[in-house]
Amino acid sequence: MTALVRAYIGMGSNLADPASQMRRARAALAAVPEVQIRATSPVYRSPPMGPVDQPDYLNAVLAAQTGLAPLSLLDTLQAIERQQDRQRGRHWGPRTLDLDLLLYGEQVLINERLQVPHPGVHERAFVLYPLADIAPDLHVPGHGRVDELLKSVSAAGLQRLGGFSWTESG
Ligand code: ADP
Ligand code: MG
Repeated sequence: MTALVRAYIGMGSNLADPASQMRRARAALAAVPEVQIRATSPVYRSPPMGPVDQPDYLNAVLAAQTGLAPLSLLDTLQAIERQQDRQRGRHWGPRTLDLDLLLYGEQVLINERLQVPHPGVHERAFVLYPLADIAPDLHVPGHGRVDELLKSVSAAGLQRLGGFSWTESG
């Protein structure tokens, strides 16, 4: 039997009704037998990183318990992206859905398809804020505690959406 690992997954969307993209992605992940969602962050609105000629993003973070190996989990995330019409366009360009494997237990992995911790996790406000909402004392290997990392990023433009419902349909 494979040991269960706590993984953190970052979600982002800025096209084609981002709120429903986020709900669909969470539901799709919850339907994977080897993945149990343990915590869901609030949703944030954030200005685009990189090219500014695109809509604002919605972002959130999920904590999940999984028996999937890291690359199998990445396959699962990419399959959900494809189900939701993710097109691979320009780097940091607009997307219906981006699912990033932020952390996989305390593991550090670097290979052609996967870098964990995700290289942006320690410096992106739209990742650190939702992560701190569900796991402030989490340790990011090589970087430190989430609540400490949070102190050195700017939250300019980041807005927590108080009224977001993860279960609302349509
Ligand atoms: P980005 O999220 O940087 O805008 P993409 O979502 O298009 O870019 O992903 C580009 C590639 O990043 C993927 O093909 C994937 O193999 C790779 N990748 C490396 N590390 C990770 C990770 N931790 N989570 C998700 N994708 C990753
Ligand atoms: Mg990605």
